[in-house]
Amino acid sequence: TTQRRVALITGANKGIGHATAGRLAALGMTVLVGARNPGRGQDAAAALRAAGGDAHALTLDVTDPETIRRAATWVEERFGRLDVLVNNAGIAGAGMDQVAPELARGEIPSSVDTGMVRAVFETNVFGVIAVTNAMLPLLRRSPAPRVVNLSSTGASLTITSDPDGPLAGLPQSAAYVPSKTALNALTVQYASELREAGILVNAACPGFCATDINNFRGHRTAAQGAAVVVRLATLGADGPTGGFFSEDGPVPW
Ligand code: NDP
Repeated sequence: TTQRRVALITGANKGIGHATAGRLAALGMTVLVGARNPGRGQDAAAALRAAGGDAHALTLDVTDPETIRRAATWVEERFGRLDVLVNNAGIAGAGMDQVAPELARGEIPSSVDTGMVRAVFETNVFGVIAVTNAMLPLLRRSPAPRVVNLSSTGASLTITSDPDGPLAGLPQSAAYVPSKTALNALTVQYASELREAGILVNAACPGFCATDINNFRGHRTAAQGAAVVVRLATLGADGPTGGFFSEDGPVPW
């Protein structure tokens, strides 16, 4: 076993996940770079090692139970426990931008397409459940286990249902946005179930960051988005659980 804290970040080969892995490695953690594509995972882990981090690639497609099972077995054999799980992997799905003129003219399908909604929920919701459940036995062996779920301001029903609210710039999609609302609901349920075990589970809103998920339209960097994720991944024992936070503090549900 290692004295370093061990953190698994899903979808860590690029974007906010990669920035989070880099920051946690810089803090002295051993980081497991979850990636569905083994080559991309190896490249990302090598980049983190070149920067001085203790990083290992871990093949993990959150929609593929076999890769999840193998990943959990590998972590167990290698480290015997897991200290931090960052459920970062996520997809937007097509029709993310409902204000697109093509969508308004009916030239591309609405995002309220059952196939699309199912596909996005498969990754953003069921993927999180599958990975979390597989890693829970290992998290329970950590002296200070932390789980962070990557959510979005768009997940907030309080914000998105307010006709006078700050809607501009928020994602609009009947697949992606509800998937993050469901993820927030899951965060509350896991937090209450795991409170007694001392496992702190929180949802993070990184802000609008320039990454592949939005064709780099975001106005923040992935590193800026990772800041709140890192904060929630490194909470002390008296830290919150079952909360939803941006860099500026609590976000209303
Ligand atoms: P990116 O598209 O840059 O990164 C997404 C990551 O998830 C990639 O590593 C991707 O892998 C991975 N991924 C997708 N599907 C799977 C899967 N089935 N199994 C494993 N990994 C998978 O986007 P971001 O970095 O921006 O997104 C990270 C998280 O942050 C997401 O959950 C997103 O919803 C959330 N978020 C992002 C915001 C933003 O403004 N950027 C705002 C609010 C929330 P691959 O390279 O193989 O595709």
